[in-house]
Amino acid sequence: MENEMAYMQEHPPRCLGEHSVPPPDALLTFLQKELGEDSTVFTPMCECSRKFLKISSSQGLSPTAIACPKCGKSRVVFDPTQHGYDGELGHNSDLEMGAPEAVVCSECGGDCLRLALCFQYSGETDVLDDDDPPDVRPEDLFGWVMIAAQCEKCQAVQEVSQSECA
Ligand SMILES: [Zn+2]
Ligand SMILES: [Zn+2]
Repeated sequence: MENEMAYMQEHPPRCLGEHSVPPPDALLTFLQKELGEDSTVFTPMCECSRKFLKISSSQGLSPTAIACPKCGKSRVVFDPTQHGYDGELGHNSDLEMGAPEAVVCSECGGDCLRLALCFQYSGETDVLDDDDPPDVRPEDLFGWVMIAAQCEKCQAVQEVSQSECA
């Protein structure tokens, strides 16, 4: 795809759902320092537009979910069995996953965090040029995801998890 990264910047992967916004600079810098420029970064928010949320995840393979302390709504924002290159193409359907736990700030113990997910692309979308391409959108074929969070109380930034997805 020509201008692939320009397209990706406008198209967050479906795992984020309808409600995501550009990340704050602190999270953008933290994540792209690790995954480089062929990546996109988005911050999921609640449909009530709150961005500091309760997070559950784990360092190993597990779903990452957000829950809103204001309106109570929750949703999964990354599930390795469904999302990313291997998830989308059905390679991970029998993956054994760890149980997600509440993520708290490593500095102050605060439990309201703003998330950002960084999606890295390195040629996975070539599969869409096959004679019989899978019915998947390019933005969903990321090969690596790294998740970081920023504390509402003390603003500290920390890594939540990283997963290879291809
Ligand atoms: Zn809410
Ligand atoms: Zn904190």
